[in-house]
Amino acid sequence: MGPPEAIQIHRDQRVVEIRWSADHVSVYPFRWLREQCECAACKNEWTGERLVSPEQVPEDLGVEGAELVGNYALRIRWSDGHDTGLYTWEHLASLCRCTRCERKQRQGPEMQ
Ligand SMILES: [Zn+2]
Ligand SMILES: [Zn+2]
Repeated sequence: MGPPEAIQIHRDQRVVEIRWSADHVSVYPFRWLREQCECAACKNEWTGERLVSPEQVPEDLGVEGAELVGNYALRIRWSDGHDTGLYTWEHLASLCRCTRCERKQRQGPEMQ
C-alpha cells in the first residue's frame, strides 16, 4: 500500500479525507478515527481491548495538526492532546467505509 495522493483535513465538516487515487477517496469522521487509534494507550496490544471508551473522546474533538511519518503513516494531533497514535496506510485503507470497500468486505476479494 503506497502513500495516498492527497490528505485533507476538513475542520468545518470534521472529517479527514484521503484520496488514494482518482477514483478512490476515503472519508473519516474525526471522532470515529480517534476511536480507531491503535497506539498502546488506546488499545491493549495483547488482548485487543479498547482502553479509551467513546465517552472519553470529546464531542467537539478537533485536529490540531497532522504530519507524515516516513512514507508509511499519518500522525494526527487531536485537540484532546492525544498524538501518540500512528495511522498506517494499511490501517487507514482497512477503515475505509466507501461503497466499494464495504462491498469488498462483505463479499471477499473481487473475482477478476
Ligand atoms: Zn492512541
Ligand atoms: Zn474505499
